[in-house]
Amino acid sequence: MYSCLKCGTDFEIYPPDDIHVVASRIEDETSHFVKVEHVCKNCGYVNVIYWGHRPSDPAWDT
Ligand SMILES: [Zn+2]
Repeated sequence: MYSCLKCGTDFEIYPPDDIHVVASRIEDETSHFVKVEHVCKNCGYVNVIYWGHRPSDPAWDT
């Protein structure tokens, strides 16, 4: 569960696919991340979540 950085409202997040399953607020430029924007239903703030591979699957990054 993540919460809005602006107002604190909790929101559900879902992986964009079966490969990118680890969520982070921070973009790691050494890895391939999928950027997903979640618009807060309460205040409209755009919360950006970066989805990365599981650490055990580095070879999947193509
Ligand atoms: Zn909000």
